[in-house]
Amino acid sequence: MDHFDVIIVGAGHGGAQAAIALRQNGYEGSIALMGREREAPYERPPLSKEYLAGDKPFERIMIRPQQFWADKDVTLMPGCNVTAVDPGEHTITVGDETQYSYRKLIWATGGDARRLSCEGGHLEGIHTVRTKADADRMRAELDAGVKRVVVVGGGYIGLEAAAVLRKLGREVVLLEALPRLLARVAGTQLSDFFLEEHRRQGVDIRLETTVETITGENGKVTGVTTQAGEEIPADMVIVGIGIVPSVGPLIAAGASGSNGLDVDEYCRTVLDDIYAIGDCACHANEWADGAVIRLESVQNANDMATTAAKAICGDKQSYRAFPWFWSNQYDIKLQTAGLSIDHDATVLRGDPAERKFSVIYLKEGRIIALDCVNNVKDYVQGRKLIEAHAEIAPELLADAEAPLKSLL
Ligand code: FAD
Repeated sequence: MDHFDVIIVGAGHGGAQAAIALRQNGYEGSIALMGREREAPYERPPLSKEYLAGDKPFERIMIRPQQFWADKDVTLMPGCNVTAVDPGEHTITVGDETQYSYRKLIWATGGDARRLSCEGGHLEGIHTVRTKADADRMRAELDAGVKRVVVVGGGYIGLEAAAVLRKLGREVVLLEALPRLLARVAGTQLSDFFLEEHRRQGVDIRLETTVETITGENGKVTGVTTQAGEEIPADMVIVGIGIVPSVGPLIAAGASGSNGLDVDEYCRTVLDDIYAIGDCACHANEWADGAVIRLESVQNANDMATTAAKAICGDKQSYRAFPWFWSNQYDIKLQTAGLSIDHDATVLRGDPAERKFSVIYLKEGRIIALDCVNNVKDYVQGRKLIEAHAEIAPELLADAEAPLKSLL
């Protein structure tokens, strides 16, 4: 049985950064970076943005050039699906039988895109957007002449995909089950703004609309029937309805977690020598007043990776990284700082009609988060207000002429 001092399972954002951070922190043991995809680690956000649009080739979304991993003495093992973990023996199983032993294990497996469970949910032409392979399949069908697309889900991925498809000249209908877009992650001002922008760009958005069945012919999708009985013709369906954390083997091995894997402030699971990071790790987040959450962002994956790597190197530092996120749709650049979970008030700064504004989220008078639309200045300055737990009168915050830094 081959042995590695550290085995990292999952070669996405978190896994790649964990290997990088181990070496940066002077770790000299052997490291294996195993992932079930075929590619070397690459950035996932462009899959619903520039890569899908054909504006960025794959080489430009790789996290590091292929040679980097060999130079850092990291054994990159693509195409390895880890199916079992034995925490007592400190071994993992890849596929049916190949076993490896480890001293420390970092679980960085992200999640699998949630699929539609309705009748017709597995027809050809239905796509999720999680991997390069997913995006490549969509690109191939688009190039082959797909004209009418139904997007299911009005979260960031669905909206970004819709924006790309409009840019590519396709007809797009977007279905959202809730009464507003981005309902789980943003306040109403942002939801209303994106609704208007997408409608202006020609996306036919239907709120409070759910899918009943997907219809098809010869195994291929031809349309979507809504719960209200409407039939919407479609050559392609894109499903953006969240992820299911990929944690089966560790839960089977005795790890705890009902929403991903529970980890402590050093990203340790309850199992000896096993860490979990990124989208699959459920942690108490200081910026959400200690609420136990899973965050799905590049920031969180990278910073948890660094926390775990440092802990393995003997430099234990609690995970306290400041949360931030972004989304690009058309010419709109959204930047988010902090976490708006449990906000009890919002302040609008600037005029959405000018397509440059910010939404400030407050909790008991304290600034906890910002959504900035085409407004880098507010993003940079507002972040400091969140870090300082500032309490500032809403009428002062609302004055878009006054720089946020002048209010600190
Ligand atoms: P991932 O990057 O998903 O990596 C996990 C890897 O583990 C995958 O390659 C997976 O195949 C592999 N794996 C899973 N199970 C196993 C197993 N059993 N054995 C071996 N390998 C396994 N975040 C932002 O901050 N900004 C954005 O604009 C943004 N846009 C996004 C757009 C899209 C289309 C998607 C899908 C995500 C986007 N995100 C964005 C989220 C961000 O990409 C994720 O939060 C980030 O990739 C999480 O990193 P991770 O390492 O936890 O998981």
